[in-house]
Amino acid sequence: MLTAIVGINWGDEGKGRMVDLLSESQDIIIRYQGGNNAGHTVVNDKGKFILNLLPSGILREDKVNVLGNGMVIDIEHLFKEVNKLREQGIKITPANLKISDCAVVCFPYNVAQDCLEEDRLGDKKFGSTRRGISPIYADKYMKKAIRMGDILHPEYLKKRLETILDWKNMTIKAYGAAEYTVEDMLKWVDTYGAPFKDYIINVGEYLNKEAKAGKNIMFEAQLGALRDLDFGIYPYTSSSNTIAAYAPVGAGVPNLKIDRCLGIMKAYSTCVGEGPFTAEMFGDEAHALREAGGEYGAATGRPRRVGGFDVVASKYGCRVQGADEVAITKLDVLDYMDQIPVVESYDVNGKTVTEFPFGEALNIAKPNIIYLKGWKCSTSKCRKWEDLPKEAQDYVRYIEKAVETKVTYVSVGPGRDEIIIL
Ligand code: GDP
Repeated sequence: MLTAIVGINWGDEGKGRMVDLLSESQDIIIRYQGGNNAGHTVVNDKGKFILNLLPSGILREDKVNVLGNGMVIDIEHLFKEVNKLREQGIKITPANLKISDCAVVCFPYNVAQDCLEEDRLGDKKFGSTRRGISPIYADKYMKKAIRMGDILHPEYLKKRLETILDWKNMTIKAYGAAEYTVEDMLKWVDTYGAPFKDYIINVGEYLNKEAKAGKNIMFEAQLGALRDLDFGIYPYTSSSNTIAAYAPVGAGVPNLKIDRCLGIMKAYSTCVGEGPFTAEMFGDEAHALREAGGEYGAATGRPRRVGGFDVVASKYGCRVQGADEVAITKLDVLDYMDQIPVVESYDVNGKTVTEFPFGEALNIAKPNIIYLKGWKCSTSKCRKWEDLPKEAQDYVRYIEKAVETKVTYVSVGPGRDEIIIL
């Protein structure tokens, strides 16, 4: 059985906690896109963990975790993330972590290029996480990237790096920054990549064998539908495809079909960085919601932009993900509200719009907000549907109808058991 856990919104929906919960019944958990530009925060009986590159299944013993070919891996970050988890008591060995030989290595010069470009843009900046993700994906598509498997072949690696750096340094120099040397980059690979030599495998071959043997395989997305390179709020998207349809490709098993696609959707909206965010709240209202939800980026600590639930964007998110069902997370965060704002449609030049618009139409869209009755009591102890106050039930049912997708989980806290299964 193949399951995909994907984000319906702009990311930070709480995918990590859902994967952590559902990974119990899984054998293999795979990250299929992105790099260390986002983070999952998982709270369980062992503590609080921040995962940027590793799949959330790493926190459970006996689960195999895979970094797929669709990923871009900053090996220095991976090295540090793995060591931090080891310090926290998590065992990580080639038995429970496998890295695709086709995953691309994100180098320090990619990180530098990302920062140099954001600085050059000044107040027109994209709000990049400055982790080198966009430059390294560009390098990948220009066929000027090093792959994890190349680490196993030092002679080839050196030759490739010479060619790539000749080219890359032209860009770095144009920004007036110091050039990168092959020697330094080889040293960097030796320090941070060499420790993973035994983890690098042909993931496609491995996964096909396991799938044939009837193993349960889960694809774990980073970010959400609206950050998908093709279907999101371009150019304020991520540089990879976050959608479920890409999961088998980015995992190395394009021949396999997903059996179950679970979309994760927050009970309100949040967005990190620049770009159109129609539901955005400002002032005290925003401050209260941000504080209630602890809405600060897991990877960067940046305060997130916040707003009410966005029906237009979420319905679109469910569609491009092909979500069979959705989990609503962080319902408890709304406990304090007298009335709950929901963006029911957009106003674009005086026209009411219910289909997600693009480009300039999205840029100028204004929210049409309705208010649903709040419940004004704590939901964090609710474990069954009947435990939820009537207004909270109404809110969930309203969302379910609006996004035309069945709600199967309602999360009322970050802990493993703080969930209602419908
Ligand atoms: P992800 O990248 O989609 O996994 O999302 P993040 O990890 O950035 O954000 C989710 C945050 O919300 C984490 O700190 C979680 O521990 C927390 N969280 C997840 N679900 C819930 C919930 O139902 N209620 C509350 N209060 N916090 C939650």
